[in-house]
Amino acid sequence: MGSSTRPARATASSGASPRRIILLGATGSIGASTLDLIERNPESFVVVAIAGGRDHAALARIALAFRPEFVAIRDESAYAPLKEALAGTNIQVAAGREAVIEAATREADLLVSAIVGAAGVEPTHAAIEAGRDVALANKECLVCAGVPFMRAAREAGVRLLPMDSEHNAIFQALGGADPATIERMIITASGGPFRTWSKEAIENATVAEALNHPNWSMGPKITIDSATMMNKGLELIEAHHLFGVPASKLDVVVHPQSIVHGLVSFADGAVTAGMGAPDMRVPISHCLGFPDRLAAPTPRLDLAAIGSLTFERPDYDRFPSLRLALDALAAGAGLPTVLNAANEVAVEAFLAGRIAFGGIARHVAEAIDAALGNGSAKEPATVAEALGVDHIVRERSRAILAGR
Ligand code: NAD
Ligand code: MG
Repeated sequence: MGSSTRPARATASSGASPRRIILLGATGSIGASTLDLIERNPESFVVVAIAGGRDHAALARIALAFRPEFVAIRDESAYAPLKEALAGTNIQVAAGREAVIEAATREADLLVSAIVGAAGVEPTHAAIEAGRDVALANKECLVCAGVPFMRAAREAGVRLLPMDSEHNAIFQALGGADPATIERMIITASGGPFRTWSKEAIENATVAEALNHPNWSMGPKITIDSATMMNKGLELIEAHHLFGVPASKLDVVVHPQSIVHGLVSFADGAVTAGMGAPDMRVPISHCLGFPDRLAAPTPRLDLAAIGSLTFERPDYDRFPSLRLALDALAAGAGLPTVLNAANEVAVEAFLAGRIAFGGIARHVAEAIDAALGNGSAKEPATVAEALGVDHIVRERSRAILAGR
């Protein structure tokens, strides 16, 4: 957990100066939830820099409302309309890859990493190297480049706060215990929209069906990952790196109500769990306020109203993506990097209507076989090396899936 024993900085509620926040992925789902909480606690936070992908109108609206010093947009063709929308303000505007990195490395107390996909790796890594504490929503950072990414955080002495709900729940369930002393770490999965569907029905599920998540409202990529259950596989890889726990101690249990998010069991048989209503503002609040608690307008848990909580084992036959991720985690050797890149491109192809739902897992399996077959699979030593592998796999996947 980075250097979590380091004394806390001025905290959100201590009456000290407001905490300076950088928000990468401001126009997304996590971005919106983060801004909602900041807006409700205006004396505790100031947004110093924001970054987004290509929605210049949404980014301009956020900039006008929160008045950051700096706004970055990744898509260079969006620079002119963004600049125009912010004309007459003193907000600095820039576009392109370097601009997102500049946003990530501004002076701040906490960076919220909520860009989707491997696109988040480079700016988040730059922020760590610049000494920024990070609240990590972007799990792809750890799937693509886990070992060098965690090493960079250790070397920079920064704190990594888990914003993904399961990991945040586990962080809280650990209660300060050293993860090395635990017996098992369990994350729950809702099972997604196809939990009870047959294999044949899942194979040909439509985009609308796959985007219809029962419990969580999220961006499109993670929503498709939840439907294939790749999301749970990515989260196991994330937990392995974040908490330094071997794959053999990690487990998944399907829990359709999404009330218990993560559990830790100890050598004496005691189990602690992190629970809460399925609203991302719960873990986001925890990260923004840490080590204090923010008052958040999130739904309160009423267990008697819910009545029963149920649990099942995952079905690897109907959800082969979960098996692929577990195998990649066990094998190491850079296979999670390959898995992540191939999955991102396959999810894009599914959302664009070019491949069947079942084609996502088939493509990922084929990309892993290809990497094993040509002997190119090895553990990336640096973040740059991981991004190099990501790029090669991505290009290959695009070429294969383009014509479909
Ligand atoms: P989203 O699609 O709603 O938003 C993604 C954001 O990233 C947008 O602001 C977009 O403009 C920006 N972006 C995309 N490509 C970019 C690029 N190349 N450069 C700069 N910005 C870029 O996604 P989301 O659901 O908010 O998820 C964000 C991350 O958080 C993902 O890694 C996801 O796995 C993780 N996460 C999300 C949730 C959730 O509830 N949404 C829960 C847990 C973890
Ligand atoms: Mg999660």
